Amino acid sequence: MKTHGILIGGKWQKSDSGETFQSLNPATEKTLGKFELGTPNDAERAVDAAERALEGWSSLPAPRRGDILLKAALLMEKEKERLARLVTMEMGKVLAEGRGDVQEAIDVTEYMAGEGRRLFGFTTPSELREKFCMTTRMPIGVCGLITPWNFPMAIPAWKIAPALICGNTMILKPASDTPLCAIELVKIFEKAGVPPGVINLVTGPGSTVGETMVKHRKVRGISFTGSRDVGLSTMRCAGIKKVGLELGGKNPIIIMDDADLDLALDGVIWGAFGTTGQRCTAASRVIIHRKVKNRFERMLVGKARKLRLGDGLRPETDVGPVINRTALKKIHYYTGVGKEEGAKLLTGGSSLPGRGFFYKPTIFTNVDNDMRIAQEEIFGPTLSITPVNSLDEAIDCANTVTYGLSSAIYTSNIRNAFLAVQRIEAGLTYVNSSTIGSEVHLPFGGVKETGHGREAGMLGIEEFSEVKTVYFDYSNRLQKAQIDKVK
Ligand code: NAP
Repeated sequence: MKTHGILIGGKWQKSDSGETFQSLNPATEKTLGKFELGTPNDAERAVDAAERALEGWSSLPAPRRGDILLKAALLMEKEKERLARLVTMEMGKVLAEGRGDVQEAIDVTEYMAGEGRRLFGFTTPSELREKFCMTTRMPIGVCGLITPWNFPMAIPAWKIAPALICGNTMILKPASDTPLCAIELVKIFEKAGVPPGVINLVTGPGSTVGETMVKHRKVRGISFTGSRDVGLSTMRCAGIKKVGLELGGKNPIIIMDDADLDLALDGVIWGAFGTTGQRCTAASRVIIHRKVKNRFERMLVGKARKLRLGDGLRPETDVGPVINRTALKKIHYYTGVGKEEGAKLLTGGSSLPGRGFFYKPTIFTNVDNDMRIAQEEIFGPTLSITPVNSLDEAIDCANTVTYGLSSAIYTSNIRNAFLAVQRIEAGLTYVNSSTIGSEVHLPFGGVKETGHGREAGMLGIEEFSEVKTVYFDYSNRLQKAQIDKVK
């Protein structure tokens, strides 16, 4: 079986641990490959390599950096089917979603290639005569990118592409469940012409390799996507450096009594059980008007029971496995919690026997908002339904959680829609559409304990650049702002 190296200074190599770990296909439990178990020392060497490469890369004109990104996007497009199958094999999502994962990586890389000809600053008048004011963008320097397993191509690309276009060098530490996807992605950037040392990749435990990067004095920026708990420790360890955090969610879909219930049904099934519920934007709560609750539940349970679980590579599969055995246990633990708390289990609530990590789509109803299953991120195919009597109650219920990533409302009343957009505490609100479906040219991110910063779109470059304010005084005399007031 092949052992995949770590990438430092343009050379794929062994870790100094002398140890490896494996990545499993969650549908079959077969091993996909062996990977170097990186160490803090490997992370240090990667930081040094990134530091050495910084001057060359940051001084290359941004449009030329953009040329390399565009080439990478085109190479990904060429290899899309192979990469998509790899996503499905390593992460488990069904093949159509595997293709979506790769497409998102292509889209963000292409978008950021164009950013090479923008990277806008602005000009503005001075309060003094013969003085010119503007802003310009600078790279941050060496960046640490730490990524989860649920979008094993898209999320690394969401970080690599803007980091590159802004002129940074970097170390990527991918999730230990999906190292192969990250390695294949980075090989494409290498093939497209990213110079040695600009992207380094170290596989291995987050608690050692990741933490070394987070604490490292020479790492000036950290972009972290993952769980709230690790996000919190990242924030604490990072010290004074730029940190972007994209953390968990407990995303609600509000369904009003005037909603098109068939449309809402499709949105809830996709939001709750797409990617087996393992999206930060997954719909894990339905908050529904009492008048339509019983009818909607019958429709929902009927449809959820028809979903076919299986290997994501099989065309007939609707729902793939969850990522690993630990996740399976955690999801089942929450089924027990829901029952103990007095919620009513409508369907699901158990795993499938045999090989692979499969959990049945699970729906609880009569869930009180203060129950743990309504508050905590389960990150699996578990949905809770909470009945309400009004829009106000629905919005209050949506806002009680500590997270604030995505949200949705189904209604045919424009006033309801606008009030929900105004009042739901979340980085994203969808009207008459599910909680998932971000496009790369719009900002993505959350509020409250989902973190801060925005990825993708125009705002995506904020996380990977610093703004410099520049004043040109061409008056040939000392002019003092605030003091020498021009009359
Ligand atoms: P996780 O356990 O927090 O891991 C995320 C990454 O952090 C992995 O690469 C992990 O490495 C690393 N890590 C672990 N401990 C670390 C430490 N002490 N210092 C530095 N890095 C460390 O999350 P996950 O299970 O992979 O992903 C699921 C979570 O991500 C969910 O909460 C989900 O909502 C969230 N998520 C958020 C977004 C968003 O954009 N808001 C998108 C996707 C996912 P190892 O794999 O080696 O442990």
